[in-house]
Amino acid sequence: MLEKPCDACRGVFLWLKSSDDVALGGFKLATSCRLQGCAEITEDKTLDDRDYMALALAAATSAGAEGEVPVGAVLVAESGEVVAVAGNAQMSSCDPTAHAEVLALRAAGQKLSNYRLPGCTLYVTLEPCTMCCGALIHARVKRLVFAAREPKAGAVVSTSSTLSNAALNHHVEWSEGVAAEASASLLRQFFSDRRSGRISKPVG
Ligand SMILES: [Zn+2]
Repeated sequence: MLEKPCDACRGVFLWLKSSDDVALGGFKLATSCRLQGCAEITEDKTLDDRDYMALALAAATSAGAEGEVPVGAVLVAESGEVVAVAGNAQMSSCDPTAHAEVLALRAAGQKLSNYRLPGCTLYVTLEPCTMCCGALIHARVKRLVFAAREPKAGAVVSTSSTLSNAALNHHVEWSEGVAAEASASLLRQFFSDRRSGRISKPVG
């Protein structure tokens, strides 16, 4: 056991403490923690963006271990409670819409019995695409925090400014950069492993 849990394990254990639904979003909670050798959280403090993003990064790592592009998302209620955690699952579910953000929104909607998620914040390790930006707007999510930019498909700032469209009737606040390097590094390693054949490539 480490004296102090790393950021990823901190996030996972805080999630474990906050929910008895450990299978939510298909996130394998125990795996990441055991890999790090952490056993418990010792300090008690108010969670901040870094803590929630650490949990999203753990979900991304878990998705990457399954051969999915490592992107993770965490949906947090206004109270600070973690409502849903999800990683990318397009390949495993044969579903082109199974981005981490969409899966987290779907799980949160089910858990809260509401098709809208007012007051909630979505943390995601990569800049959302057009589809996911649209889903955030439809869900009336209050705030988005993403880690790294996605130059080829990101629709918040990289290829378009979907969330800043003044014509829309709901505006999602957003910020970026929390754990950006950790997320980018995870993605770089994943694609490097895939190019070298250590991770199998998707069919098609
Ligand atoms: Zn997306």
